[in-house]
Amino acid sequence: MAGLRDKLPLLLGAKTAKALSTALSIETVSDLLRHYPRRYAERGELTDIAGLELGEHATVLARIERVSKRTMKSRRGTILDMVITDGKRRLACAFFNQAWREKELAPGKTGLFSGKVTAFRDTLQLANPEYQLLEPENEAEAVDNFAGAIIPVYPAAAGMPSWSIEKCVRQVLDVLEVDEDPMPAELLKRYGLTGLEPALRGIHRPESWAALESARQRLKWDEAMAVQLIFAQRRHSAVSRPAKASPHTDGGILDAFDKRLPFELTDGQREIGDEIAADLATEHPMNRLLQGEVGSGKTVVALRAMLQVVDSGRQAAMLAPTEVLAAQHARSLRDMLGDLAQAGELGGAENATRVTLLTGSMGAKERKKALLETISGEAGIVVGTHALIQDSVSFAELGLVVVDEQHRFGVEQRDALRSRGAEGTSPHVLVMTATPIPRTVAMTVYGDLETSALRQMPVGRSPIKTSVVPVAEKPAWLDRAWQRVREEVGKGHQAYVVCPRIGDEPPSDKTERPPVAVLDVAPELEHGPLKGLRVGVLHGRMPADEKDTVMRAFAAAELDVLVATTVIEVGVNVPNATAMVIMDADRFGVSQLHQLRGRVGRGSVPGLCLLVTETLDGTSTRERLAAVESTTDGFELSRLDLELRREGDILGAAQSGKRSTLKLLSLLRDEEVIADARTCAQAFVEQDPELKKFPGLARLIADVVDQDRVEYLEKS
Ligand code: ADP
Ligand code: MG
Repeated sequence: MAGLRDKLPLLLGAKTAKALSTALSIETVSDLLRHYPRRYAERGELTDIAGLELGEHATVLARIERVSKRTMKSRRGTILDMVITDGKRRLACAFFNQAWREKELAPGKTGLFSGKVTAFRDTLQLANPEYQLLEPENEAEAVDNFAGAIIPVYPAAAGMPSWSIEKCVRQVLDVLEVDEDPMPAELLKRYGLTGLEPALRGIHRPESWAALESARQRLKWDEAMAVQLIFAQRRHSAVSRPAKASPHTDGGILDAFDKRLPFELTDGQREIGDEIAADLATEHPMNRLLQGEVGSGKTVVALRAMLQVVDSGRQAAMLAPTEVLAAQHARSLRDMLGDLAQAGELGGAENATRVTLLTGSMGAKERKKALLETISGEAGIVVGTHALIQDSVSFAELGLVVVDEQHRFGVEQRDALRSRGAEGTSPHVLVMTATPIPRTVAMTVYGDLETSALRQMPVGRSPIKTSVVPVAEKPAWLDRAWQRVREEVGKGHQAYVVCPRIGDEPPSDKTERPPVAVLDVAPELEHGPLKGLRVGVLHGRMPADEKDTVMRAFAAAELDVLVATTVIEVGVNVPNATAMVIMDADRFGVSQLHQLRGRVGRGSVPGLCLLVTETLDGTSTRERLAAVESTTDGFELSRLDLELRREGDILGAAQSGKRSTLKLLSLLRDEEVIADARTCAQAFVEQDPELKKFPGLARLIADVVDQDRVEYLEKS
């Protein structure tokens, strides 16, 4: 009998075990049995060749159509050409110097064929194919191997084809005995889940599609549970650290600020504001993610949180991904606060505080002043880049850290924050992101944070009209695009032109055209279609002071058009900019395009966003652009994006080979499982943070989750 923890050499022999280990990092019975089939072939139904991806290591159930032998002219030897088919499409295979195979590869036979999918001219090929014919040669074995109607197809690797894995799995299943289910029986019962042993048998050797489904459901739970347990433990350990309570102070700066707000808070802003206010009032650190589209009013929410902390005598730090953005945040916070931010200045309000900008590129004198304000506590709010925390700048008493733009701020950086509060306490942390993420992704990728979402836009926002400009099909539309930019400028507005590349890189030897570059486009526009307009340039490799000068000039309407890279993606706020032309728009991701266009239409005039592309209609890239054109609802877009991308892209999980954490669980389709598992995991960890009473669950984590992958999930 074999248990899940047993090593494979004793069961399968040293040679096979070594091969599994080398090809697929499979070491134990558990590793092997959690290497689930990727697909299932059905006896009598050939694999759809149209569904194969170039470059993947694929296994197809196909029929041999023809086989022919030829002699190589240059070298002595033979090539056996074989064509296999699914009845509609064909795949070409070639065997070198294996003429003897001609006897067994008779046209009309079916079998499993495995290899890397490549293309030569316009023919799909299976390179270095390995195969297993189903009949009649292997009849004895075939009956045994593939007794059922459902044939598992495994993620395979060269030297370890699907049927070899299948054979190993079968040998192991023959002696398997799972002595204890890692999931508590009560949970299995509540969610109607099958036991681990039947699930493992069912996923590898399903007797019916229904049996397969219930096996999958159970094993999805294993994945969801393992990941959510890790996050629940992480939340628990973060939250159980001490923090300084900063409850609301009556008559403080926050109250004064609220009184003079020129608008009503939206319901969302008010509700999330209350949640945050309550979090800040406890003696454990807040760890909250605030999602909300560009312009949904996150900054006001963050500022109100910061003021609550300042009112209780502590400091708040606001971190931005770039110096340009930090400077801009500092400016807009000062604008919003007015005399409430003018402590010590003429005209400052009575209980005013100070907003201090602290960045690496400041002059020595300026920086010293900022450091002094920070360490003395004069600065209630300190704005900087992430370096503010990494450089261990000293604060008098740091109570809250607001991080703008989550996706560049990983879990390690969040960990680094934990020790930055006064007297060994952790500061409260509020992370803001303008990239709407579907709930399931938020629960999985940012699982260690509580999340809040601002779904409602403040009233009075202008709509953004987006159009694709397909230059390959309609070259004249590009001229029309520049015409539109001139019209906007003619009305006194401004425009952005966004390019994927700066253009100061050394030329590459790729034959493909490189993406359009800022440094090429700007002069072309200035001397061509936008002649006479004032054109500025902004990109990430400019010195900080130059960037700042350009941003100020654009904000002051001293420039009509800003040709830029995605440095303008986040937070840049120039309400007078009403048009944006995105060059080679197909080079950007859906959410990035959505983020970019959020820069226009911030004022009272409707915004216009033109997506210039050479891609052709009907391609999947064009489909993504069409999605961006079709809706401005960021949450809907993020869902569409999830659908259009292969899930592997999102999790970074290799499609074959290496162990990945989520093999069965789909962030798109398994929302219910993820949410239920999160609730259960939270309850178990609250009861018993180290899971001492639930050794099965602790084992489950080790079995299912590759710790490196979890780190990766969080960073990506
Ligand atoms: P975000 O940071 O989410 O992109 P901001 O906080 O910068 O959004 O808000 C965008 C604009 O909307 C700002 O000019 C802000 O003053 C304004 N605003 C915020 N909340 C409201 C509201 N409730 N009603 C009207 N305008 C608002
Ligand atoms: Mg903002």
